[in-house]
Amino acid sequence: MGINDEKILEAFDAIPRHYFLDLVFDAQAYTNMAFQIGSGQTISHPYTVAFQTQLLELEKGMKVLEIGTGSGFQTCVLCKLGAKVFSIERHKELHKKAKGMIDFFKFSARLFFGDGYKGNKTYAPYDRILVTCGAPKLPIELLSQLKNGGVLVIPVGAGKEQKMIKLTKDFEGNVSEKDYGIFKFVPMLERKVN
Ligand code: SAH
Repeated sequence: MGINDEKILEAFDAIPRHYFLDLVFDAQAYTNMAFQIGSGQTISHPYTVAFQTQLLELEKGMKVLEIGTGSGFQTCVLCKLGAKVFSIERHKELHKKAKGMIDFFKFSARLFFGDGYKGNKTYAPYDRILVTCGAPKLPIELLSQLKNGGVLVIPVGAGKEQKMIKLTKDFEGNVSEKDYGIFKFVPMLERKVN
């Protein structure tokens, strides 16, 4: 499907997706489908995870902020690629469960329960920022936490569909934007949910 980065394909081989899903979905875990993960949320299609990861143009050791931990699958893929991951989830139950998965795979991602609209200033700026929920518009706070020379990948759109946007900040801080087509994400919502 156009994912030609060998390292990404290897990361997918290394992270068993069925571990992140309810047992009833076991047989379908390696099809290109989204599944319910609780709290009304879904794990993204594997193609979407791979596509967003490819857009990031990651290098080992980069600091990555992920908004929307969800199941933690994408988080683990980023870790496998050698990123230092900081990931925020607004649903407490999902956050706790994802933390268990990260520990199980012995990755060292830092997971936070909170509102991703605020980003995470403590560890900013980030080399890469990845949003895995549909944002009605670009959250300016996230852009301000992106390093010069950094990349922000975010699905933007207020309706049921979003445009996959890749923003690049050059070394002078100028931002340019490129559109990578239509995707469907659960919405990016404000405030955390206990
Ligand atoms: N990468 C995840 C995708 C999960 S779906 C996976 O593959 O499993 C997107 C997630 O974004 C949901 O869990 C949803 O609760 C979360 N989300 C939505 N708005 C958010 C916000 N403002 N801050 C943090 N997480 C948010």
